[in-house]
Amino acid sequence: MRGQRLLVLGAGESGCGAAALGQALGMEVAVWDQSGIPQGRLQQLDAMGIAGESNCVKEIDEFAPHLVIKSPGIAPEIPWVQRALDLGYRVVDEIEFAAAHTQAKLVGITGTNGKTTTTFLTHHLLVRGGIRAGLAGNMGKSFAGAVALDLHKPLDQRPDVYVLEVSSFQLDALDQTRFDIGVITNITPDHLDRYGYVMQNYVDSKFRMIRNMNQESHFVWCSDDPVSAEQILKTAHCPYRSYTFSYRKPLAFTQGAFVDRDHIHTLINAETMSIPLNELALNGRHNAYNSMAAAVVAQLMEVRKESIRESLTNFDQLEHRLEKVGRVRGVDYINDSKATNVNSTWYALESMDKPVLWIAGGVDKGNDYSALTDLVQDRVKVLICMGKDNRALHEAFGGKVPVMVNVTSMQEAVQRAYQLSQKGDAVLLSPACASFDLFENYEDRGRQFKHFVNNL
Ligand code: ADP
Repeated sequence: MRGQRLLVLGAGESGCGAAALGQALGMEVAVWDQSGIPQGRLQQLDAMGIAGESNCVKEIDEFAPHLVIKSPGIAPEIPWVQRALDLGYRVVDEIEFAAAHTQAKLVGITGTNGKTTTTFLTHHLLVRGGIRAGLAGNMGKSFAGAVALDLHKPLDQRPDVYVLEVSSFQLDALDQTRFDIGVITNITPDHLDRYGYVMQNYVDSKFRMIRNMNQESHFVWCSDDPVSAEQILKTAHCPYRSYTFSYRKPLAFTQGAFVDRDHIHTLINAETMSIPLNELALNGRHNAYNSMAAAVVAQLMEVRKESIRESLTNFDQLEHRLEKVGRVRGVDYINDSKATNVNSTWYALESMDKPVLWIAGGVDKGNDYSALTDLVQDRVKVLICMGKDNRALHEAFGGKVPVMVNVTSMQEAVQRAYQLSQKGDAVLLSPACASFDLFENYEDRGRQFKHFVNNL
């Protein structure tokens, strides 16, 4: 690789990570972006001695690269990629590039919901269990960036395993990479706009997780999830070892984890482990799933049972995911701003054991709210619709909750919740929608919520 030319397309987190890795490998690196590259990124590249080209209109032949790295957000159809392929240049994605330059084992975690939580939790279980584990992927540092940093460390300080959160976009581009352990948390409709509104395309994308797996590979999946279960039947010939997790079914023919009598039980290679649900650091049924998946991975990596049990109880909650913000006048305030689809909000509502003032709404990706009806009727006393267009919420829940109000800012939402709540209630921000109508992103939405709650 040394001395070869590397062209990175896209100057986001993945692109800059790939550039750093190319640099660490002694390659001559260029980074091109068709849009403006933010100042911070340009400085980051500059510090590495790499020129980032904003609003770049150059032809690919001008650089004549030995290797082209495509960021996951870049569609394979764009002219640069097509031209590179026509000219016979190798084009790979950031994950492929990173995977080719590390000896570490790879744990890949994907799914519609729960990726970030399960990734952080798994990493926590491994590190607490004495394993040198790196953490990277979709939720933060790019895999290539992490490998680049680790290449500068002595061999005995590099990670033995990377725990990677992998998005469907990243999976779409997977070619040679093999995950030693792959997890699919669940699959429900989301991002279908990117998959031609065909659910099977989205499912196929998630299941690229098992691509290249062999008899030594481990695949961990949720047997309560009908979409995953159906797809498993279609891929029965794959040689991986299968592990399931379930809230409902004790293990029948597989190994894995399940819930019985308010305990999680695991069975891996004849080793069993149990932990009471109420001792888990993360509350809610969805987090029991995430905890099961993480525990199975940790047991597969031979972390001691006592260590797994302890780490499942002392994990710090993540921001914006059923995050307890505080209690004001006896009312709990909970920030679940990351709930951008119906399924994640279902789990948030299901985990509530108090009357709920529910703040919902935003950019609706064609939501079918019917799955929430029973829970809403049972638990929600006030629905605060927070969006530029609240019609879908009104159509779905009009007449089904005692009080519905419309607001157009977070300040107003928190004020209304404060006025309408009573001691013993819970105010839950779990929008089931994207945030772009009123906020920059879900983090901005969640932080505004916390800001106004803290100022009550
Ligand atoms: P992702 O990275 O897949 O978006 P997160 O861990 O960030 O997942 O959680 C996103 C949202 O989904 C949060 O609102 C969270 O409370 C909820 N959630 C977390 N795990 C699950 C799960 N296993 N099933 C359904 N919803 C979940």
